[in-house]
Amino acid sequence: MCGAGGARSHYPAQDDRRSDDTSAYRCTTTTRFRPEVFRCGQCEHWFTDPNSWPASLGGEYESLVDAEYLRMIGVKRRTFKKAADVVCRYARPPAAILEVGSYAGIFLDEMAARGFPITGIEPSTWGAQMAQERGHTVHQGTAEDVLAAQDSEQWDVVVSWDVIEHVPDPRQFVRLLSRAAKPGGLVVFSTLDRGNWFPRLVGRRWPWIIPMHLHYFDQEAIRRISSEAALEFVDTKPHVHYTTPSYALNRLVRMARPLPVRHTESSHLIVPIAFGDVRTFVFRRVPADT
Ligand SMILES: [Zn+2]
Repeated sequence: MCGAGGARSHYPAQDDRRSDDTSAYRCTTTTRFRPEVFRCGQCEHWFTDPNSWPASLGGEYESLVDAEYLRMIGVKRRTFKKAADVVCRYARPPAAILEVGSYAGIFLDEMAARGFPITGIEPSTWGAQMAQERGHTVHQGTAEDVLAAQDSEQWDVVVSWDVIEHVPDPRQFVRLLSRAAKPGGLVVFSTLDRGNWFPRLVGRRWPWIIPMHLHYFDQEAIRRISSEAALEFVDTKPHVHYTTPSYALNRLVRMARPLPVRHTESSHLIVPIAFGDVRTFVFRRVPADT
């Protein structure tokens, strides 16, 4: 992240990576494997070994299908209603919104229902099709590929929920989000905050240390890379995830002992997960002349 060489192992890997684990890149992953986490000696940034990242990350996401996500759709809608409330504090229709990493399109549904024109970008063919079938405009591909082919500065609001920790080059990713926003427009995204009390308390058992998370930021790092990308800090707050009790139990139990807990459908029961270890950040694109 800072370009310095030299990083030390911070947390060891835990459990074996199973070659038959096809859930590793799904939103609803149940993988038990935790990658080794390294810490930069210069800026203290945490990341996993770049040599362990798949040769084609776009390919991993392009081919994923996540049926479990659809079974959890009720809780996903609750999560994205909360996210939409944050955006609606700063924007009104007809502000044009771009969502980078729109997955099955639940946030697109929510914002369209609130009267916003909204477009998605999604690498998963499955996710893009799910949203397209409900009438949304979604460009299938990675942010790098799709945004490079688009005119810059065309969106009033650019949002990206829980994506930046998945990309190999987060500084480049933030530059792409910033470039897509109009001067004076908003860039809103969420990610993990390793500086929060919860990851400090549980250490290497933090449930978000999973193979698809390549980077683990703290608030200062997010503000720094955003500032470098012409984004002025506006606000940050905890990003609330709603989930089913079984999924919460599954992730929490795994912190203590690797017990298999099966997901069972329990969409009538919804619990909010808000330790504060996932945060939403709101930035404003600096006007071109300043
Ligand atoms: Zn560094």
